[in-house]
Amino acid sequence: MTSSATRGALARRVSSPVTPLGLYIGGVVLAALPVLIWALAALALEPRVFGVGRPVVVLLLFGIAIGELTSVEVALRDSRSYLLTLSATFTVALILVAPLGLVILAQCIPLLVDDLTRGKHWSRPVFNLGQYVLTAAAARWTFCLLAGQDFLTPEEFRSQDVVPAIGTALVYFVVNTGLVVLVIALSSRRIAARRLWADVHQNITTLGPMVAMAPVCLAVSKFSLWLLPAVLLPVIAVREISKLALEHRDSAQHDALTGLPNRSFFLFQLDRMLTEAEPDGTALGVMFIDLDHFKEINDTLGHEAGDALIRDIGRRLRSAVPEKVTVARLGGDEFAVLTELPSGAGAPLAQAEELAERLTATLDAPVNVAGVRLEVRASIGIALAPQHARSSAALLAKADIAMYLAKGDGIGVAVYDPSKDANTTERLLLLTQLHDALAAGQLSVYYQPKCDVRTGRVVGAEALVRWRHPDRGLLGADQFIPVAETTELITQLTLVVLEQAIAQVRSWLDQGHWFGVAVNLSVRHLADVRLPEQVNTLLTRYRVAPELLTLEVTENTVMTDPHRAVAVLAMLRAGGVKIAIDDYGTGYSSLAYLKRLAVDELKIDRSFIVGMTSDENNQIIVRSTVELGHNLGLRLVAEGVEDAETWRHLQVLGCEVIQGYTVQAPLPAPEFDEWLRRWDAHGREEAVGKLPVRPHTRPGHLEPVEKPA
Ligand code: C2E
Ligand code: MG
Ligand code: MG
Repeated sequence: MTSSATRGALARRVSSPVTPLGLYIGGVVLAALPVLIWALAALALEPRVFGVGRPVVVLLLFGIAIGELTSVEVALRDSRSYLLTLSATFTVALILVAPLGLVILAQCIPLLVDDLTRGKHWSRPVFNLGQYVLTAAAARWTFCLLAGQDFLTPEEFRSQDVVPAIGTALVYFVVNTGLVVLVIALSSRRIAARRLWADVHQNITTLGPMVAMAPVCLAVSKFSLWLLPAVLLPVIAVREISKLALEHRDSAQHDALTGLPNRSFFLFQLDRMLTEAEPDGTALGVMFIDLDHFKEINDTLGHEAGDALIRDIGRRLRSAVPEKVTVARLGGDEFAVLTELPSGAGAPLAQAEELAERLTATLDAPVNVAGVRLEVRASIGIALAPQHARSSAALLAKADIAMYLAKGDGIGVAVYDPSKDANTTERLLLLTQLHDALAAGQLSVYYQPKCDVRTGRVVGAEALVRWRHPDRGLLGADQFIPVAETTELITQLTLVVLEQAIAQVRSWLDQGHWFGVAVNLSVRHLADVRLPEQVNTLLTRYRVAPELLTLEVTENTVMTDPHRAVAVLAMLRAGGVKIAIDDYGTGYSSLAYLKRLAVDELKIDRSFIVGMTSDENNQIIVRSTVELGHNLGLRLVAEGVEDAETWRHLQVLGCEVIQGYTVQAPLPAPEFDEWLRRWDAHGREEAVGKLPVRPHTRPGHLEPVEKPA
């Protein structure tokens, strides 16, 4: 029996003979060499004396040949596998009745042929040769001792040999298992007791029964040689059951869609490579790959197209990297790559980055899915072991964090950066909690009034989300919206806000107030062609006229995917919904785009408003924005109006609507209604009455006007 787990490990580790593994293999080979020479010499000198040509010996040789040729891979519980050569029954039987040299030849010739034709590393056949020679010699010696026979002169098998034969089988099993398990253990950097036991247990259940069959095999042959082939039947059964078990395990370890390893198998591989890592400084690289905008593709073109895309991406990733690099599908549109970064091949980071670039380049070519040509882009996060983490779960999590940064910054590939980790881990935690918060109804909507600049009358309200966090108290939008915007969660969140806000308009209408609500939209939602339909459904459900809903988008939101955004906004606007450009002045939109967008409202960012009474530049910006907006036929809203002086200035400039703390900070719906009653009763008149008669101006910049009646 040889272990496939030893194959790769041996090849890598034996390069240096002074390691414990190198010394062990050297010791085994040195111990086996004199036995081998002696056994072969004895066979060459007098083959006939030992009864080489006896029918039972010929049949056993035949059995060994078949067993060796039909070797089968046996699945281990922990995802590794063994190559089980089914010749053990006949080998042990042969040890009892044939010269040692013949046993060695019968076992080693197929082994050498197999290893040499498959181009295996020299260490493998050399070790297995030593293992076979020592095991066979120990077994033969045991038998001779127990049965009182001569080591070099085998005799006919007799009925009194059955008990010594059982002892021989036991020694064969113990020595063989010991030699193999030890080599596997030494090829790992850490010797784990659980794994050692798994290997021993594996041998007991597979090799054990086959070895135990050897005395039966010879006892049967005493009765009739014709019965000997029947011994093959259980061997065949073992083989078939092992094949089934392997198939079963393979399907549990692989993703059905792409055929690539799945997440648990990837983590297992990663674990194994981490435990077997070379002390010579070979690093490991883990890459977390996530497709950009996969959900939209899936939603727009359907799941079959999505599946076809995932299959194609899986194929591309697999063929872009050498066979020894693991490519897995973690689920959804997430893939992972695991590679060794040998110390001799340059800095690990440079090697990993080069691989990531190769992967990006592979994904760059357009994909044809459902007759549509798609440009697929992905974000890749890189984490290295041992530099960034030493456990499989931590390493994958860090690659995930790096991917998340790459996606957020739109840079394609990012390497894990510990300095950003505290922040990012917190953000990941926040995302998980937000997910639950949505389900638990912890999000509530606050409303901030928007007032007519001249009369102070409420003309609308902006819906601003808040999170009643169970541990951290009330969280403002800025504390979780930017995080939510990096995932699909924002779409769900916006729908929650939309529904609450539209329901609130219904309530205001029922109270006799005729004004609408403004809801902020994020980039993901604006690229979602289902949005107009969702909005319509809500408006219909709450019997709210579309013109009472304003959707606020920032310039950058639109510019991220202008083509799609323009289309979605046009659909919404065609349905009667109003569109506002939020935080105007902070983004990179051009005039040309503003014209094309066909919006209704321009909200001047509060950074220009807050300082405008004292900052000339801000005054100029606000004034020209108002002019520009009016020329384009837009309604101008100033946000962040914090004092009466600024309010008065905005009146002078001809801005139509103000929003800010000078009127009222955002309030929960019941408090807003309460405030509204007071505002309409007397607050409004008082506030307008207290506005300064002339705004504070610098000569030449503003034309002071008289306070309106
Ligand atoms: P925004 O849309 O520009 O909202 C105005 C922000 O300015 C609000 O902050 C509001 O509380 C604050 N604000 C109002 N008046 C004043 C003032 O006089 N002075 C100052 N300094 N600030 C004032 P908030 O509620 O923290 O929201 C921050 C941003 O988060 C919003 O900016 C908006 O972009 C986003 N946001 C809020 N709610 C939602 C939502 O439901 N969905 C999405 N996608 N984004 C939201
Ligand atoms: Mg807004
Ligand atoms: Mg704003």
